[in-house]
Amino acid sequence: MTRYNPECIFCKITAGLIPATVLYRNDVVVAFRDITPVAPTHVLIIPVEHIRSLSELTEADSEIAAQILLAARIVADITGVLESGYRVVFNNGADALQSVGHIHAHLIGGRPMGWPPFAGHEVRH
Ligand code: AMP
Ligand code: ZN
Repeated sequence: MTRYNPECIFCKITAGLIPATVLYRNDVVVAFRDITPVAPTHVLIIPVEHIRSLSELTEADSEIAAQILLAARIVADITGVLESGYRVVFNNGADALQSVGHIHAHLIGGRPMGWPPFAGHEVRH
């Protein structure tokens, strides 16, 4: 049975109830542009099914986990950052500033980035 949370903003995007700029989708995942991009390419890749965070992912979700990563490669290709480089980030839980409780990979690229990320000044949004 498909996990769906009617209160969840990302579930609403998968259902087409709120608009998003979708770059890629298949039966398992949807990739759409972040509404507040931090780089020229900033795309969120989410599973269609509502899973709150990586911490709730189980062995039964292995196809979902794989599809998120495979979609990252496809989105990197579509957005033209496959060769220049890109970062894939899962913010998970409070310390990581996860703000939407539906697993999402941020795919960020199109500009040089620093490492380690976010050292120093954290901004809670
Ligand atoms: P996180 O802080 O890791 O939970 O990331 C949540 C991300 O979702 C943020 O980068 C937001 O800009 C983004 N976001 C929130 N609402 C929307 C929306 N309706 N469409 C696209 N991106 C969104
Ligand atoms: Zn959801």
